[in-house]
Amino acid sequence: MKARERLWARVLVAAALACWVPAANATTSARAAPPAQDEELAVGQEVFNQLKAKGEIIESSPLYDVLLPVIQPIMRAAQPQYSHPFKVYLVHEPQPNAFATPGGYIYVVDALLYFVKNKEQLAGTLSHEVAHTIHHDGMELAKKQEQIRRREIGAAILLRPTRAHLLAIALIGKLHALSYSRDAESRADLTGADVCAASGTNPWGLVWLFREFKNARPGEIPQILSDHPNDLNRINALQNHFHSNPSVFAHFNPDARSATPLNVPKKAPVVFLR
Ligand SMILES: [Zn+2]
Repeated sequence: MKARERLWARVLVAAALACWVPAANATTSARAAPPAQDEELAVGQEVFNQLKAKGEIIESSPLYDVLLPVIQPIMRAAQPQYSHPFKVYLVHEPQPNAFATPGGYIYVVDALLYFVKNKEQLAGTLSHEVAHTIHHDGMELAKKQEQIRRREIGAAILLRPTRAHLLAIALIGKLHALSYSRDAESRADLTGADVCAASGTNPWGLVWLFREFKNARPGEIPQILSDHPNDLNRINALQNHFHSNPSVFAHFNPDARSATPLNVPKKAPVVFLR
C-alpha cells in the first residue's frame, strides 16, 4: 500500500470509528457520528483497497464492453433505492462469481461472463447482487462476523482504531461464500427481479440459470448462488412473484429460447489496477 493510500485508509478508519464508539461514550459522540450509510461507504472502500492491493481488480479489458451494457441499466434502475452511487469492477478469479459490498461496489468475476449462457442469466445474477446492497445484507453480515470475532478476541479490540478495517477483513474473508440467510437470499431474488424488470431486461434469466444448476456438478455453480441448494423453491418463488404482478412481469417471455446471446471475446486481455 502506498503512503497516500495508507493515509486515506486511516482517514476512512477514523471516520468509521466515530460511529463505532462503545455505548458508554455514545452520548458525547452522538452528534458527530456519521449516518450508517457513511459507515457502509467506509467499509466498501476498505474492501476495494484490499482487492486492489491483491491485484485482482481489472482496470481495462474488452470484457467491460460486454458487462457495461448489461449492468448499467440495472444500476440506474436500482439507484433510487440506495444512497451511494453504484460502481462496478471486473475482478480476475478462476471461479465464476459476483458479489456486492456495502457502499455500492459491485464486483463481477471475469469467469462469470464465460459461465452464463446469455444476457438474461447475467442480468438476473447481477440484479440479485444489487438487491443485497439495497437490503444492506453485506453490512449485516460484516457486523455479524465481527461480533463473532470480537467475542473471540475480547472487548479490548474496541479501543484500537481499526474498526472499519476489521469489518472489511471480516467481509473479505467471506466474499467467496457470503453466507446470507435463506430469507435474505429469497428477498434478494424478488427485489432483484423487480430491479431487472425495471431496467428493461427479462427477469426470467435467473429462473433459467437455476434450472441449469440442477444439471450442473457442484463445483460448476457460482458459489454465490449455490449457498442454499433449494433451487426449486427459488424458482417457484420467482414464478409466483411474476404471476402475482402481471403489470410488471407479464410482457416478459418465460421461454429460454427467447434469450439474448452474450458475445464474450475468448481470452480477452486484461489490465490490472495498480
Ligand atoms: Zn445472494
